[in-house]
Amino acid sequence: MKKIGVLTSGGDSPGMNAAIRAVVRTAIYNGLEVAGIYRGYQGLLEGDIEPLTVSSVGDIIHRGGTMLRTARCLEFKEEEGFQRGLAMLKMFKIDGLVVIGGDGSFNGAKRLADAGFPTIGIPGTIDNDLAYTEFTLGFDTALTTVVNAIGNIRDTSSSHGRVNIIEVMGRHCGDIALYGGLAGGAEAVIIPEIDTDMDDLCQTILRGKKRGKLHSIILLAEGVGKPYEVAEQIKSKTGSDVKVSVIGYLQRGGTPTPSDRILGSRLGAYAVDQLIAGKAGRAIGIKGNQLVDIDISEALSMKKDYDKEIYELARILAI
Ligand code: ATP
Repeated sequence: MKKIGVLTSGGDSPGMNAAIRAVVRTAIYNGLEVAGIYRGYQGLLEGDIEPLTVSSVGDIIHRGGTMLRTARCLEFKEEEGFQRGLAMLKMFKIDGLVVIGGDGSFNGAKRLADAGFPTIGIPGTIDNDLAYTEFTLGFDTALTTVVNAIGNIRDTSSSHGRVNIIEVMGRHCGDIALYGGLAGGAEAVIIPEIDTDMDDLCQTILRGKKRGKLHSIILLAEGVGKPYEVAEQIKSKTGSDVKVSVIGYLQRGGTPTPSDRILGSRLGAYAVDQLIAGKAGRAIGIKGNQLVDIDISEALSMKKDYDKEIYELARILAI
């Protein structure tokens, strides 16, 4: 292995830059060259590829987004585009690839590995929706943004005695709502993994009101229900004034938390170690604060479930 490539693909997430920096510097430390592939698989197909040096990745560890930029590339999913991607890797004399992205990007990485090209996947997505790893890169920063938002909304919510519905990201995985709800002391979380009993939820709000509670916060994962319709339901069942806040893309950006910078650095270095060790087709992640690697096909086939203990705890503490 003489030269490795690195790309970021799909939705960006805070901490990707820390991972890129670690890939580049670990590789150079070990005597390898690094090719930075811009705009994910799209840039690969277009040959938007440049050598990266130690200083190319200076001053990025604290920045959100990705210095390599990112893209969604439908062409790479087609056989012809995929073969062109493989040819590009060969043309640029790249011997191994680190792909930083979510499950879609991992599908591309798996195909490359299946075609015999050594590829390692780093889970870069705020959604925490990959089952094989306890945490994905960017989740902690997104959570921090959500918890800060809850704090601000809670202040005004108390002043006015309101119920607030806060819509957060996580169309298929409710982890941002779930962990954000627990950390932010929400009265309820509504996530895609569970059918929420709205009568039960309204009873919790009414119980709180009765004992003089000034506000209620409800975290709603996007796509589970329309926030304004949920607000109407709660309003009609509790008589409360209900406001809706949609946090949206604020969750995708921002300076990465120390945890995400550390995770990105560890995952980036580990990915390079894997390639040097001759491993291929691995998804790397973290479990019990230990770095882990598993077959990327297996990683993709695992079904993510919500953490029942966290859900139950959030429910009990909202009594
Ligand atoms: P996020 O979790 O933030 O949505 P993601 O990595 O899942 O990120 P996708 O848009 O699903 O984002 O996938 C990113 C890119 O990965 C696609 O645009 C495409 O280029 C590539 N990709 C996805 N599936 C495949 C596949 N089956 N074969 C080859 N490439 C793929």
